[in-house]
Amino acid sequence: MKSGAVFWFTGLSGAGKTTVAGGAQRALEREGYSVLILDGDQIRSGLHRDLGFSEAEIEENNARIAGLCEARRAEADVILVPIISPYRRSRQAAKKRLGGRCFEVYFDASLECVMKRDVKGLYAKAIRRELSGVIGFSPESVYETPLTPDFTVRSGAQTVDESVRDLVGFIKDCLRREGERKL
Ligand code: ADP
Repeated sequence: MKSGAVFWFTGLSGAGKTTVAGGAQRALEREGYSVLILDGDQIRSGLHRDLGFSEAEIEENNARIAGLCEARRAEADVILVPIISPYRRSRQAAKKRLGGRCFEVYFDASLECVMKRDVKGLYAKAIRRELSGVIGFSPESVYETPLTPDFTVRSGAQTVDESVRDLVGFIKDCLRREGERKL
């Protein structure tokens, strides 16, 4: 039975988590790995639509997604979790719950960079004061940068292809190390 390794992403909205997750999934599947993406935004609009964006609700959303990873581990070799996950304590809790096979992947793109991209128009709305609670921008919604992530994707400074290549390299190293340990 499979027991997927979990790659728990974290980074600002627009940092490239969804884009790189899709690219990494395609690349890994081409090499024969099975890959499941548990997308924070999609889960929020479906299963977790009861949850808002207060600190407690963000934490609850993260905790439920960690539970979902646990429940669906048998389905894939690799589980990718593109999610903002702004709090250190939520990320630590996910790692604790999922054991040693959960890796924190930081998508390093500055606020300046993601505001320039503004793929979802969030930051423009926040500037016009039409939206509050934009993580990393609104004063009441902090983003806690990881201090010791397992891996950093330099998505603010790279092309999509470079970021996908780097992440896929890290994932394959993790899987290889685990394979060697089992021998
Ligand atoms: P997130 O899921 O983190 O909110 P998205 O993946 O939805 O971010 O959007 C990231 C945007 O930035 C996309 O339009 C993508 O094409 C662009 N982009 C530019 N460079 C990169 C990179 N190195 N990695 C990922 N996305 C990038």
